[in-house]
Amino acid sequence: MDKVCAIFGGSRGIGRAVAQLMALKGYRLAIVARNLDVAKAAASDLGGDHLAFSCDVAKEHDVQNTFEEIEKHLGQINFLVNAAGINRDSLLVRTKTEDMVSQLHTNLLGSMLTCRAAMKTMIQHQGGSIVNIGSIIGLKGNSGQSVYSASKGGLVGFSRALAKEVARKKIRVNVVAPGFIHTDMTKDLKEEHLKKNIPLGRFGEAIEVAHAVVFLLESPYITGHVLVVDGGLQLTV
Ligand code: NDP
Repeated sequence: MDKVCAIFGGSRGIGRAVAQLMALKGYRLAIVARNLDVAKAAASDLGGDHLAFSCDVAKEHDVQNTFEEIEKHLGQINFLVNAAGINRDSLLVRTKTEDMVSQLHTNLLGSMLTCRAAMKTMIQHQGGSIVNIGSIIGLKGNSGQSVYSASKGGLVGFSRALAKEVARKKIRVNVVAPGFIHTDMTKDLKEEHLKKNIPLGRFGEAIEVAHAVVFLLESPYITGHVLVVDGGLQLTV
């Protein structure tokens, strides 16, 4: 049976690194993001017969249609990675309602929608493995990131509950919680200042998170786990 994985947010950053690693390991991949051109370029860089799809995870119809399209072209999805995410950092009193909604819809509702869509095929075929990308900020909190923290903390609760719900169907659900990682999302941060608080003394690279994602995807006896990949940041905050 083909190993087919849908990677939401697979066009850039952490999701793209996961795609690069999984392509090397022989998976057939669906690279999913809003910008189809960027997703196509990422899929083509992988070589092989990986495909790109355009989808906004915050939109139910988009997610539903995308799952149908992926299964039509690649076959049954047995692996799912939710790496699509955004941040709109600001103190709560200055945060616009639309920025609360967009973060919650993309980071939390989006993963609920993709997991629900994946359940239909995974339950039918009695097996599957999901990794949702959380954040150390969802576990520890951070000033200026209350809504983002809520979205990522919520993702942990959601993933652990779902892990219990579907374990008997041989479906596993885990979370990887990164610290500061070099991607577009962190390019405007003051790295020199922030890295002083990281015991390993540096930001992480996307490929270092990807190894943790693939480890959990492929670990048959681990479910409901949150794997922190943060250079030791959680030890200090
Ligand atoms: P990037 O900004 O580099 O990439 C984000 C990816 O998500 C892109 O592929 C983007 O494509 C896609 N995306 C964003 N919004 C949507 C949407 N509504 N629907 C579908 N796809 C979407 O971010 P990172 O790689 O840094 O982040 C990946 C995940 O890791 C996120 O969930 C983030 O919160 C989390 N994380 C990142 C950390 C870091 O330090 N970088 C630390 C902790 C957690 P497009 O814009 O074309 O849709």
